[in-house]
Amino acid sequence: MHEQPVALVTGGNRGIGREIGRQLGAHGYHVLLATRDPAKGLEAARELGLAMTPLDVSDPDSIARLVHSLEGRKLGIDALVHNAGVAFKGFDATVARDTLAVNFFGVLHLTEALLPFLRPHARVVIVSSGVGDRSALAPDLRARFADGNLDRAELTVLMQAFVTAVAEGHHSADGWPSSAYGVSKIGATMLAQVLARELADDPRQLRFNALCPGWVKTDMGGPQASREVSEGADTAVWLATQPPDGPNGGFFRDRKPAAW
Ligand code: NAP
Repeated sequence: MHEQPVALVTGGNRGIGREIGRQLGAHGYHVLLATRDPAKGLEAARELGLAMTPLDVSDPDSIARLVHSLEGRKLGIDALVHNAGVAFKGFDATVARDTLAVNFFGVLHLTEALLPFLRPHARVVIVSSGVGDRSALAPDLRARFADGNLDRAELTVLMQAFVTAVAEGHHSADGWPSSAYGVSKIGATMLAQVLARELADDPRQLRFNALCPGWVKTDMGGPQASREVSEGADTAVWLATQPPDGPNGGFFRDRKPAAW
């Protein structure tokens, strides 16, 4: 049994995820950098003095192998940080499918698979984006996202409907924007709210929150971005280290609740 609190950070080999791992390590966590390329992950883990575990969040078999390995090591998780993300150029059916597979369904499926491993007061943190802005949706769709009874099943239906609508050429008529990244992040931010609501009675008193890191200098953000990775990681680490009575179901930027 690890006496240290345990954190698992997806997409931990570079960019914001690597820095979240570094900062959580400095906070005393036993950090597992979960990376889809084990070689890159091992290199980052070695440099930071952390541990590495292989994980492609879009691959159910990879998630199953992670579950198996956590069971084998009898590891519980105190902080689960969903940071892995993709932002492809262009917009078509493949981009929509592949973006949602990582940025939304990856977060959903990994959370569901790791729920049994979450220890009392565990924090689940979703690195989303302010680009996931509900005002980009047509009013009817926006109302469905604003429905206080929206659950995981209905959110999944909505996200899958976007992928299908893009493939069939009617996403604009259905009220969706032509941004797979934006829609995926609307879903990711919404997921924190939905999970917080659905698991409100869980005796472990789990916490689910999403955040926007701002525009950060990474491979994704580019060299012109306004923030260093240390600033980009800050709110995620702050949410991952909140006390048991910390926020639940929120969306944050710079450690403050933000509109989306
Ligand atoms: P990044 O430098 O492009 O890093 C993305 C990370 O995600 C990489 O480690 C990548 O692994 C990993 N990843 C991608 N697909 C994966 C998969 N299927 N399974 C596991 N890992 C996967 O991006 P970043 O800027 O650090 O972004 C981190 C998060 O912040 C993302 O969720 C992004 O949407 C969000 N965000 C970033 C900005 C910004 O300005 N940078 C702004 C708002 C939100 P590989 O090395 O194997 O590709």
